[in-house]
Amino acid sequence: MMEAPLTVGSMLERAEKFFPKKQVISQTHDKLHYLTYADIGQRTRRLMSVLHELGVQKGDRVGTLAWNHHRHLEIYFGAPGIGAVLHTINIRLSPEHIIYIINHAEDKILFIDEDVLPLIEKIQDQLTTVEAFVVMTDKSELPESGLNPLYSYEELLQSGDPTHPFIEGIDENDTAGMCYTSATTGKPKGVTYSHRGIVLHSFALGIADTAGLSESDVAMPVVPQFHVNAWGIPFASTWFGSTQVMPGPRFTPKRLAQFIEKFGVTVTAGVPTIWLGLLRELEQENYDTSSLRMVLCGGSAAPLGVIKAFEEKHNIPFYHAYGATETTPVATFSRLKSYQQDLSDEERLEERARQGILVPGLDMKIIGNNGEVKWDDQEMGELLLRGPWIADEYYKDDRSENAFIDGWLHTGDVVTVDEEGTIKIVDRTKDLIKSGGEWISSVDIENALIAHDAIFEASVVAIPDAEWQECPIACVVLNEGLAVDGMKEEIIEFLRPQFAKFWLPDDVLFFDEAPKTSVGKFLKRELREQVKAEYNLQD
Ligand code: AMP
Repeated sequence: MMEAPLTVGSMLERAEKFFPKKQVISQTHDKLHYLTYADIGQRTRRLMSVLHELGVQKGDRVGTLAWNHHRHLEIYFGAPGIGAVLHTINIRLSPEHIIYIINHAEDKILFIDEDVLPLIEKIQDQLTTVEAFVVMTDKSELPESGLNPLYSYEELLQSGDPTHPFIEGIDENDTAGMCYTSATTGKPKGVTYSHRGIVLHSFALGIADTAGLSESDVAMPVVPQFHVNAWGIPFASTWFGSTQVMPGPRFTPKRLAQFIEKFGVTVTAGVPTIWLGLLRELEQENYDTSSLRMVLCGGSAAPLGVIKAFEEKHNIPFYHAYGATETTPVATFSRLKSYQQDLSDEERLEERARQGILVPGLDMKIIGNNGEVKWDDQEMGELLLRGPWIADEYYKDDRSENAFIDGWLHTGDVVTVDEEGTIKIVDRTKDLIKSGGEWISSVDIENALIAHDAIFEASVVAIPDAEWQECPIACVVLNEGLAVDGMKEEIIEFLRPQFAKFWLPDDVLFFDEAPKTSVGKFLKRELREQVKAEYNLQD
């Protein structure tokens, strides 16, 4: 066979060629834009020539601090299109981490959304490698800013060449993108994505047994473009010629619901918190969501109650997938097998709440205390992954040696696997609770809690216990307007028939709001600190 490189630029070229009329609908700060792939192609070509003008060379890192919109999409293809590296930066991280990430990646240029400018102004003196800033604004005038030199994206594009070619002769193993993931302790860790990895991962999103993305889809990635490339959806949707809907800055559940109705969104993707918010909105107002064929949920375990509410109350198909920054990200996908269709409703739900089976192209191993675990759904072990879209190191980081061992990524996720090969994440290795020598899965208790009618969100953490080593504490946010009185006892009684006695939380604490990470997951580290403070416990 021919050795044909798989490149990111060629994905947009395909959209230009075969789907020039298909649309990208993009919400920015000021307005809703309707562009075609012909427009996006031309604008990306202009951008590539501008990047050259600004001195960006092959291998240079191009940083973005931006929401989901068409300009961000153009940089997705424009930076790798000239052999540079698209570096998406999580705008919700602390200034310290953002400074660290930009300096560590050695970003040469930063593309910034208007509302992120004040943050970058404050830290600009500490950025050691950035030579220019570009603001992605709709306004004709540059905003007041202390950033220097500061350019306007649209003005730069006007001076660009709309016929600029994508780079030729690129090695498919060259880096096309990078993204930092927050570690629980210490500095964020960088992961680089090769052209090849991104293209193969896009193929994986098109498989009927995963997301089955196709030309006929209207895809709305809600997961931010700075979180593992919005799970690769903008790349795959462009390649396949799907219509894309970019929900833009600071979207609300209302905007999401309106966009679903207005644009006939068929596939959308995000973390459970987003879907909890959308559920609330759907319960308050009527929307036509009948176009949706898939709400894709990942990033944290999809609570059973949420799957049930989407499917049974709103008739919206809800799918669960698992992955990580290190895995581009989609690694497993949960669907029933053909011969599982006659399971009872309850069994189907249980099955679909699992993280699913490995996506074709990847390989897994689950290592417990005594080597590879049995597929009995009992024995727990750490999930190890390898494959063409799994990272093989952290970017210039000594911590690589603890996570990438003998050609396998050690995910830090503890799972069980059933006889079908379907995995179930029971915890992060560091979040498992050890009580009297036995393991307790915080995730299992959380899932049970969230099924209680009064509970909006739940997280379970361990506190030290003199007798049992550790014991679980349930941290709960009740649905709006509900009183806490008597709830603790009710919740424990609700859990009692479902778990062994030693799994039952020793206490239930009530919160107005749960601390979340920058990508909307529970911040267990912070929660644990709050819980310890509640009991006056020291480390
Ligand atoms: P990140 O790199 O920020 O995307 O985080 C990846 C981590 O999120 C994984 O290692 C898991 O611990 C967790 N995660 C991702 N998807 C799921 C899922 N579907 N269920 C449970 N945990 C998940």
